[in-house]
Amino acid sequence: MSTEKTHTHEFQAEVRQLLDIVIHSLYTDREIFVRELVSNASDALEKMRLLQLTEKSVFDDQLPLEINISTDEAARTLTFSDYGIGMTRAELTENLGTIAHSGSKAFVQAMKQGGKDGSNVIGQFGVGFYSAFMVASEVKVYSHSWNNDAEHLVWSSDGATGYNIEEAPGQHRGCKLVLQLKEEDAEYAKPERIKQILAKYSNFVGFPINLNGDRINNIEALWLKGKSEVTEEQYKEFYKFASHSFDEPKYTFHFNADAPLNINALLFAPTSNSELYGMGQMEPGVALYSRRVLIDQHPKKFLPEWMRFIRGVVDSEDLPLNISRETMQDSVLFRKLGQTVQGRLLKFLEREAEGDAKKYEEFYKDFSRFLKEGVATDFDNRNAIAKLLRFESSLTADTETISFAGYVSRMKEEQKNIYYQIGSNRKTIEAGPYLEAFKAQGCEVLFLYEAIDDYVVSALSEFDGKKLTAVNSNDVDLGESSIEGDSLSTDDADKLCAWLKENLQGRVQEVRIGKRLVSSPAMAVMPDGEMSPQLRQMMKAMKNEDFGSAQVVLEINPAHAIVRKLAGVTASNPELSGLLAQQLLDNALLSAGLLDDPQTMINRMHKIMEQALA
Ligand code: ADP
Repeated sequence: MSTEKTHTHEFQAEVRQLLDIVIHSLYTDREIFVRELVSNASDALEKMRLLQLTEKSVFDDQLPLEINISTDEAARTLTFSDYGIGMTRAELTENLGTIAHSGSKAFVQAMKQGGKDGSNVIGQFGVGFYSAFMVASEVKVYSHSWNNDAEHLVWSSDGATGYNIEEAPGQHRGCKLVLQLKEEDAEYAKPERIKQILAKYSNFVGFPINLNGDRINNIEALWLKGKSEVTEEQYKEFYKFASHSFDEPKYTFHFNADAPLNINALLFAPTSNSELYGMGQMEPGVALYSRRVLIDQHPKKFLPEWMRFIRGVVDSEDLPLNISRETMQDSVLFRKLGQTVQGRLLKFLEREAEGDAKKYEEFYKDFSRFLKEGVATDFDNRNAIAKLLRFESSLTADTETISFAGYVSRMKEEQKNIYYQIGSNRKTIEAGPYLEAFKAQGCEVLFLYEAIDDYVVSALSEFDGKKLTAVNSNDVDLGESSIEGDSLSTDDADKLCAWLKENLQGRVQEVRIGKRLVSSPAMAVMPDGEMSPQLRQMMKAMKNEDFGSAQVVLEINPAHAIVRKLAGVTASNPELSGLLAQQLLDNALLSAGLLDDPQTMINRMHKIMEQALA
């Protein structure tokens, strides 16, 4: 048997860490524990409501689905009770003694590593219950499960190292949490204070909440109202409620439709992206209702996975109430509803992006990776998502961006393709050999800076009928460029190409006279069907295997001094010209991001330097 000081059960190590963070680091917004506990109670009631549809025998079946909160200033206690599903002994141990979700573990990790603003995300990662220990020196959870055979129990803990579970006869179905408040947190035993907090966070809870016996929330379904009946403030409040967060919605999209499907949707895009904090993948955040009754809080496959950052509610009278989640996901109606919402949402974002580019840019900075994931994975919406992408380009000012449509609108008359270059940043791209000819012709090139962009362009392959073409690909044709000044004759240039091909045997597929070089002597072009340098690097990193060297096409610039002079010494100085040929190729490969073996190149450079000094 346990005494007051000894615990019969120890917390899992992660729980102890979590408690430590919750109690000591999250000083601000301590009041959120009320929201967290009410939200747990509401979840338990929701589960009960669903169980009652199928289970014949339920403990305390007559009890209403509601939440009761009571305060006791003299005893300095605050009590939350719900007639939800309750917990068995095993569930108390599992749910309140361990952290099952990987998300919470990621949360602990992230908080330890740098302490982002944790209160913003605390609710999203299932650490809710433990927030009670921010204000309580002891928490008791009295419970009886909905199952008739379960025990009457009390779980208790001081939030330090462990907890006890003992029998406690006379419990109702559900959970009753009694918080013994810390002296400095006595304010939470005052009814006015709790009322004020509930007004802030719990207006939209779908079950009645009573405080000391008085009903305090009116269940409001904002999404069923018309736009003109809802204020900006109400939208924000609802967003915070629905998304468990403290940031404000970046975009609010409210629409009601009657035909062909009845849809009342209230959707939000957040301001901050919690996945950027290393918190793991978000769960789908759009809940599905029918006539105000929650059908599924996190419906899978309703919206495509990349839209998981969207929060809010979709309510349709056309959805039957008693449909099981599994059957629902296969129904035509469910799919149609999903498609309609997706389409409207994408159109909405497109309009917003055009209407207020600056605001969209802020959104895009944090959320572009979802859109890009969408282009790569969501075939149905691919073209619509492509309209939402933004890139820097050779014609934009630093950090200014344009859309594909913007690019197309300023394409030159004879231009057929949309050109892009993948590179780590503007400086690197602009210093490389590929851009020269495009610049000379005044032809715009999009700059793509992220690894995923390679997938995006290959998944998309075209926009508005224009082929997306990498500047280093074989089929770039910018027409003849007029070479000014001295240049090798075509004959001499052809001879040099043949000589180079011979000397670079096994390393190049072809050597030819380039039409698009201005101030660089040579460049590497990817033959059709070769994987891009970026993909190649990624595959190498992932599989840790060697694909052999890339077989490129080497294009030379017959007007460049190095090329002209090289042509003159191939016969008279075969040793030096041999070294220079290899070096010319390596330089081109380096610019292309394809040089696998820098050491060989460095050794060769040393030989060339020796000869230069001789
Ligand atoms: P989350 O609610 O995000 O899962 P919590 O730490 O708040 O994380 O709660 C852990 C688990 O404890 C819940 O998932 C739920 O199974 C259980 N739980 C918490 N509060 C209640 C309650 N009032 N009634 C029934 N189960 C509860």
